[in-house]
Amino acid sequence: MLVVMSADATPSQVSAVTDKIHSLGFTPQVGQGGTRTVVVVSGNHGLEGREALLRLPGVEEVLRTTPPYKLAARDAHSGPSTFPVAGTRIGGGCTLIAGPCSVESERMLLETATFMTRLGVKLLRAGAYKPRTSPYSFQGLGEEGLRLLAKVKEQTNIGIVTEVLDAEAVARVEEVADVLQVGTRNMQNTTLLRRLGAARRPVLLKRGMAATVDEWLLAAEYVLAGGNPRVILCERGIRTAVDHPYATLDLGVIPIVKQRSHLPIIVDPSHGTGRAAFVPAMGRAALAAGADGLLIEVHPDPVNARSDGQQSLTFDEFEQLHRALRSLADALGVALL
Ligand code: PEP
Ligand code: MN
Repeated sequence: MLVVMSADATPSQVSAVTDKIHSLGFTPQVGQGGTRTVVVVSGNHGLEGREALLRLPGVEEVLRTTPPYKLAARDAHSGPSTFPVAGTRIGGGCTLIAGPCSVESERMLLETATFMTRLGVKLLRAGAYKPRTSPYSFQGLGEEGLRLLAKVKEQTNIGIVTEVLDAEAVARVEEVADVLQVGTRNMQNTTLLRRLGAARRPVLLKRGMAATVDEWLLAAEYVLAGGNPRVILCERGIRTAVDHPYATLDLGVIPIVKQRSHLPIIVDPSHGTGRAAFVPAMGRAALAAGADGLLIEVHPDPVNARSDGQQSLTFDEFEQLHRALRSLADALGVALL
């Protein structure tokens, strides 16, 4: 941590700062810049003591010099994290995850799973519990949805990615799920994140709609600190001043996350654009930008979908995108998984 004194700070104000740092049990080291004095603080954890120091006269700013997370940090792991999931792996390639927004019926789920299996896609994503913005929108089939997911998994052997909305439901959902999704609205549900630290399954953690990278990595830290090392970050679009139909898909976050963390990062161009017509361009761009996977909404009949039909690809559209991704992955030397 670094204490930056204001340009007109007096020597006694600097002394008061070093005294406070000593009294907190840390070590100060005073340095003189061109126009101001700085005090390096060592021996503390993160921003410990920052609030007290900010209150002292002559202190302009107290800055972090190390990341606020430990287990999610790049240095905490030798190279990028990669782990097996349901007959495929996350990390070290670009893993495709696709399926309808919601489980609607056994027929549509089986049809989608069969189609994905034919294309070699190993992970089917469909929600039994849906976190909708409006309480009047379709909330998912719940328990019945889980039952259908289990049935289709047994029939096709496809891996299941599905959302868990609260801590209490984790045990039930992980009976069926190979990956537990945490939605954007729950990124900072710390009770849920702590519970997922004890889960048996990897966690797909969507970025909060207005979350900074560090807030997102700290949310991942909750799961890691709880003892579950398998976290997949998912960029799904954020709120900005730009008048996009739904969200601004922040592809620029991929290299930033890779610089700060060892965790794999996948991209959801479906929620990230909100329109089916925009999904292929952003899917290809995400692969080119180094995403470790893509999460794409696909529905046998998007016009009649019960949720997110506007952004769901038809089977034909997905097949076309799949072909394009395959050529692009070949050109980039990336394994499409
Ligand atoms: C979803 O994946 O269908 C979903 C609700 O996503 P998000 O949490 O990103 O809105
Ligand atoms: Mn959706």
